[in-house]
Amino acid sequence: MAAELLDVVIVGSGPAGLTAAIYCARSGLKVQVIGKTLGGQAAEASTIENYPGFKHITGIELMERFREHVESLGINILNDEVVGIEEFGGVFLVKTSWSGHFKCRALILAIGAEPKKLGIKGEEEFRGKGVSYCAVCDGPLFRGRNVAVIGGGNSALDAAVYLSALAKTVYLVHRRGELRAAQSLIERLNSRNNVVKKLNKVPIEIGGERFVEWIKLKDASSGAEELLNVNAVFVEAGREVRGNFLKGFVALDDKGQIVVDALCRTSREGVFAAGDATITPYKQVIIAAGDGAKAALSAYEYLKGRGP
Ligand SMILES: Cc1cc2nc3c(=O)[nH]c(=O)nc-3n(C[C@H](O)[C@H](O)[C@H](O)COP(=O)(O)OP(=O)(O)OC[C@H]3O[C@@H](n4cnc5c(N)ncnc54)[C@H](O)[C@@H]3O)c2cc1C
Repeated sequence: MAAELLDVVIVGSGPAGLTAAIYCARSGLKVQVIGKTLGGQAAEASTIENYPGFKHITGIELMERFREHVESLGINILNDEVVGIEEFGGVFLVKTSWSGHFKCRALILAIGAEPKKLGIKGEEEFRGKGVSYCAVCDGPLFRGRNVAVIGGGNSALDAAVYLSALAKTVYLVHRRGELRAAQSLIERLNSRNNVVKKLNKVPIEIGGERFVEWIKLKDASSGAEELLNVNAVFVEAGREVRGNFLKGFVALDDKGQIVVDALCRTSREGVFAAGDATITPYKQVIIAAGDGAKAALSAYEYLKGRGP
């Protein structure tokens, strides 16, 4: 067990966790950030055009600025995974995969969300062989090829628009008859002449020899099947909170989201939560960052003994 008793451990290094870190540091708290991926989902956004102060910035650039800001305050961002948390009379023991244990008096959970799987044949088999959950990370591998994006929300359209600048043809496959994304994204998508919308189509199988060569779709109304020749399938079919290690530790809703009040307090004293991992609606960078600030200020008040 790490000997030092920290004030706060922040789990997650996306917009919520990194903003919480800035506020904790400025309140003079001794803090450790632990995150699996720097920047979280925001680092996967090809373009962010709704974070005030930046009319247009890539997700990676914005998150790099968050990181610089956090580190300039002397805070260490540890790249590791939290696998369990226990409480011993007001002290939390945070267990990680590789770096041992951390002890703290307050916790901020900012674990965000991760892509939902399609759960179809071939998805696991071809993961990393054409099946991807991050267009910005893997898209450049498929320059000049045909690709499919699965989903009809903001993330799917962001991916399709991004890929349209690289791929020969982008098939946007959505199980409903209309897209559910911001109007600005729909307009940008419609301006691309190499994006083919496949609406009312449900993906049922991904196949190929060693790498992805095709995806099979089924028409949601007629049941007719069709095969698209693609070299990659980008899955953007929604996101879910992966907080198995939190079951029984804090209250979760039926979707696995952490239940919080207006001050980012969870069901357990001394434990706060922020961003996409919580029941707060509208999953956006600005909202996650605002939540992170709120959680840190609440943690500060709690540690001072006044409670938020
Ligand atoms: C493709 C795409 C495009 C988007 N475009 C926009 C946009 O244009 N504008 C906008 O406002 N929003 C956009 N979003 C949404 C935005 O990215 C999210 O709302 C925001 O990132 C949520 O921040 P968060 O910190 O709550 O969670 P996340 O960004 O999900 O970060 C969670 C962090 O927790 C870490 N983590 C998870 N589990 C553990 C664990 N057990 N141990 C340690 N660390 C853990 C993750 O690795 C990550 O660092 C987009 C999202 C996607 C996917």
